[in-house]
Parts: sequence; structure tokens; C-alpha cells
Amino acid sequence: MHLETLAIHAGQPPDPAHGAVMPPIYQTSTFAFKAVGQPGEFDYTRSGNPTRKALEECLAALEGGAHAFSFASGMAAVSVALALLESGDHVLVHDDLYGGTYRYLTGVTANLGVGVDFVNMRDLDALQAAIRPNTRLLWTETPTNPLMNLQDLEAIADIARARGVRTITDNTFASPCNQRPLDLGIDISLHSMTKYINGHSDVIAGALIVRDDAIAERLKFLQNATGTALSPFDSFLVLRGIKTLPLRVEAHNANALAMAHWLREQPQVAQVLHPGLPEHPQHQLAQRQMRGVGGTFSFRMKSGEAAVRLLNRVRLHTLAESLGGVESLIEHPFAMTHASMPEEVRRAVGITEEMIRISVGIEHIDDLIADLAQAMA
Ligand SMILES: *Cc1c(COP(=O)(O)O)cnc(C)c1O
Repeated sequence: MHLETLAIHAGQPPDPAHGAVMPPIYQTSTFAFKAVGQPGEFDYTRSGNPTRKALEECLAALEGGAHAFSFASGMAAVSVALALLESGDHVLVHDDLYGGTYRYLTGVTANLGVGVDFVNMRDLDALQAAIRPNTRLLWTETPTNPLMNLQDLEAIADIARARGVRTITDNTFASPCNQRPLDLGIDISLHSMTKYINGHSDVIAGALIVRDDAIAERLKFLQNATGTALSPFDSFLVLRGIKTLPLRVEAHNANALAMAHWLREQPQVAQVLHPGLPEHPQHQLAQRQMRGVGGTFSFRMKSGEAAVRLLNRVRLHTLAESLGGVESLIEHPFAMTHASMPEEVRRAVGITEEMIRISVGIEHIDDLIADLAQAMA
């Protein structure tokens, strides 16, 4: 079935108890046993809950996975994925990635006897050379935030498989509607559902989706053991958001591409970093790997002062961190989302004062462009 249909129906048949069309919020911590030693399908909500199960079945269907696990945040999903590693293992990470994941890898994982190395995975030879005998996981994130770099997931999955290494992709920016890593041979797809999947800027949530039964069994164990699972109420909210995910992503894709085309014609704008534009260095890869390139991208003004002036003058766009909601958000990575990176690292990768990141919402594009035009005037 198509994504539009799966988003509405997968995992969500009418509720067996009363025929409720929306999965009810099973707001309970525990479930009655039939007799001693005879639990029903569920016994305790940390281990399993019907509302969360409905969400997880829907997520698995959307990504072409067999199993999905939902968590209290994207970072909880990151921490559980990294808990697949053991002391003595080595993980290779694409060198341009979400700041919170970088913080977890360097501040937590690296202290547990796991080797952590960063490599530019756009360079497949460098990737090959960096794999060690104890490398157990390749960590990708594409497109990246805020630089909009892509990695070739199919090529990376092929390399990893040949070397007996597992792969994970942080698919947050793309959403299942624009990119399906499992179809490209990646083992684990990760989402901050806080962003496009929920899409309404009112929940913090994360997910891991896999095909492999053995990885799924370990993730199920870790979800329960770490107590990081998503609550029933938040599971309900994400399910509600998912119903319109395909429609929203189509609107985000179209609005962001139109905004990117408009921005590159403005004399105050120095560069637009959007993989849907033909001048993007990985435009071909974007065309091959993604159905649409999403609603979030970056651009550079001609000076840092011009960027700050624009950001302080927008009216319809909200100056805020995060992305992927129905409303348009705009921010300054250098001073906001990426301020925790050391300044020399920010400058070395190109996160400078002129850069603006925009999460284009699903308002009318003419109103959004008019807002940026008045802020630049
Ligand atoms: C936001 C985000 C995360 C972390 O998710 P939270 O829900 O904020 O914990 C991880 N990866 C990417 C790419 C993100 O944008």
C-alpha cells in the first residue's frame, strides 16, 4: 500500500473493545493478569502499551521495516541505538551531524570504552580506510544540519555489509516520505519524531526502525531495560500527527524549493544550500536517493550583520530552534542551535555568522516570501 494509506491505517484498525476509530489513549501503568503467571498481551506500560504499539506498527510500515520502537525523545533513540555497542567496540560517525548526537558520542559513549571516530563519509575511500577490525557501527545522517550535505546510503550500506558492520541513518530531516534508508540497505533508521513525523511542535519523541529480527530483539530489551519508551499520551499525539505526514511533507517540499529558488535571486543572499537546486554539489545524489528534499535548508547572507538584521525583523517566521512543524521557523545556527560546538569547529565546517537556517512550514508560500522580503528590505 501507499504511504498516504499506511499513515492513516497501519497499526490502527478500529479498537477491539468498542470500535473506536482512533486508537484510544491507554493511560495506564499496569494491566490485570488473568491468573498468576498468566498476563494478557500487556503487563506493564514500560514494557508495552496498546497505544504505543499502534504507533510502532505504523512507523514500521512507513519505513518498510518489520519492527519499530518509540522513545521519549530523539536523543533517547540515539542513546539506545548506541547501547547496542559494547566496551572494546568502535563506531565510525559521519563528521557533520546533529549537535546532540555529537555531544552524546563524545560525552557518554567515548567514556564507556567504545572507540568513536569521525570521518567524512562523502569520501568512500576515506570511509573504507577508517574501518577497523572492531568497527561495529557506521553512523550516518543525511541531509545534515545545517550544512545540507548528503551521504550515499546505498554505497555506504554496501561497504558496511562487505565488512560485516552495521549501519544506522538519522532520517529525521527527510522523514519516511522523502527517504527510506532500509530500502537502501541500511540496518537501522532513526528519527527525532519531534520534527516532521509529529509535525506540530507539541511533542518530544524518537524512533528506531529495523528489519532484522536479532537487532529488534536487542532493541526491545534495551527499550524496556532503559525505561526510555514513549508515553501513551505522546504516542497518541504522534499517531494523530502522522495521519497527515505525507500531505505535510509534500507541502514542505514544494514551499522550501520555491523559497530556495526565490532566495537565490536576491542580491543580499550569497549562497543557498538546498539539494534540490541544480548547483548543489550533491544534486544528482539527492535526485536518486530522495523523493523530495524536505522543508529545511540553509542560506548565507553577504554578512553576519545582514543575517542578524533579517532574523530580528521577520514577523510571520518565528525565531526559534527546532524544525519540521507546520509553522515556519528561522534561526541562526552560529549563535543558536550550534553554539555549543567549539567556535573553531563551527568555522572549520562552515557554520558562520552569515548563515541562516529555515524550516519552511506549510503556510502559503507567497506570505512566507513576503515576510522574508520585508525583513531584507
Ligand atoms: C532534533 C534532532 C535530534 C534529537 O531529537 P530530540 O527529539 O530533540 O531529542 C536528533 N537528530 C536530528 C537530526 C535532530 O534534528
